[in-house]
Amino acid sequence: KQVSATELARHYLDRIQQSDLNAFTHIDASLTLQQAAMADERLAKNDTTPLTGIPIAHKDIFVTRDWRSTAGSRMLENYSSPFDATVVEQFRNAGMVTLGKLNCDEFAMGSSNENSFFGPVRNPWDKTAVPGGSSGGSAAAIAARLAPAATATDTGGSIRQPASFCGVTGIKPTYGRVSRFGMIAFASSLDQGGPMAQTAEDCALLLNAMAGYDPRDSTSLERDKEDFGRDLDKSLQGLKIGVPAEYFGKGLAPDVEQAVRAALKEYEKLGATLVEISLPKTELSIPVYYVIAPAEASSNLSRFDGVRYGYRAKEYKDLSDMYCKTRAEGFGDEVKRRILVGAYVLSHGYYDAYYLQAQKIRRLIAQDFQNAFKQCDVIMGPVAPTVAWDLGDKTDDPVANYLADIFTLSTSLAGLPGMSIPCGFGQGEKNAQRPVGLQIIGNYFDEAKLLNVAHQFQ
Ligand code: GLN
Repeated sequence: KQVSATELARHYLDRIQQSDLNAFTHIDASLTLQQAAMADERLAKNDTTPLTGIPIAHKDIFVTRDWRSTAGSRMLENYSSPFDATVVEQFRNAGMVTLGKLNCDEFAMGSSNENSFFGPVRNPWDKTAVPGGSSGGSAAAIAARLAPAATATDTGGSIRQPASFCGVTGIKPTYGRVSRFGMIAFASSLDQGGPMAQTAEDCALLLNAMAGYDPRDSTSLERDKEDFGRDLDKSLQGLKIGVPAEYFGKGLAPDVEQAVRAALKEYEKLGATLVEISLPKTELSIPVYYVIAPAEASSNLSRFDGVRYGYRAKEYKDLSDMYCKTRAEGFGDEVKRRILVGAYVLSHGYYDAYYLQAQKIRRLIAQDFQNAFKQCDVIMGPVAPTVAWDLGDKTDDPVANYLADIFTLSTSLAGLPGMSIPCGFGQGEKNAQRPVGLQIIGNYFDEAKLLNVAHQFQ
């Protein structure tokens, strides 16, 4: 007997209610069950897509009409959107059933999900470890089987790194593939939504529903619809895998290196050949990203002024005092730090020295990849230098957090698609329970190839 959408939704709602991971910011069982009943009607009428009746949870950075949309911030603690994000709408049209909203770092700023106003998410493999960030709720929910599918966003690694830390599969598509309409903005030239699930096969189905041109997003790409799962079963015979020297240098933990190298060996057995390549500007991706992303964030977050959306300070003297108190009380420390850095690098006298320089190096980073793709079809390496760290370990040290983004930032700066798939565990008493992810980077629009390469390994 086929499981009904309602039974499936109940199963996951039960698991969510029993979980102590803090992966969700908002659930509402009656809303979910309403959607499930509608999906069951569609199933009865055979008016279906491959996703009809399948539950999904959304990172709380996508706005939803029926669930609160907080972006992990006090600023939007009680915010209800008057509309659904395009991505949310697309999954609804496909007949998916929304389970609720997933915890994340405030405005997607962070690598450990400890910057959420709603508290940190725990890593289901080891509850003393961080789940990664900023899409920590998405990754933890998939890993703990609280949801079979989730949305996430990646500005500098926020799909790939939490997927890696929680042992699940996630893909950040080419910039412009997935609509940003209704995705609360962090750094608009970098932000890109994508799916997270157990497998590449599931991600392909999700991306089919998620990708596509949206006239409401000015950077959305006009491309023909494609089936991202079309090449899943293709053989990898003759595939050239670029292995960047810079991704295996000092700073890479030996246990992560071992798991990644073992995965590369498996790929050789599948018929691929390894080519040593170089991405010489990798190191510069950290300073470049941490100039550009805060610059865009400082501009995007100016809309949170206590007038148009969300939180407003209770007591104030005049309008200017209201702005100041609202923003002082509504934003967390990391968000304030980024607004300060962003306003500084954009200010007269520093714009040329920092912002403009960063933009120039961004172009060179993208060029690094184009040079590399002359020698190989895909690039592989670690997602992060270490396995998940302990909760609380880096909370007082923002720079330590930034440094951990070294292998994911350049892909985002270049706008390329990238994936993380599970490839093993760390070593030693503690790390043996903590997953390691393999990163697969492709050239623009090569999502179908990435999913093929991932699927053959899985
Ligand atoms: N860790 C990076 C940051 O803090 C990336 C976050 C993201 O991709 N949203 O900005």
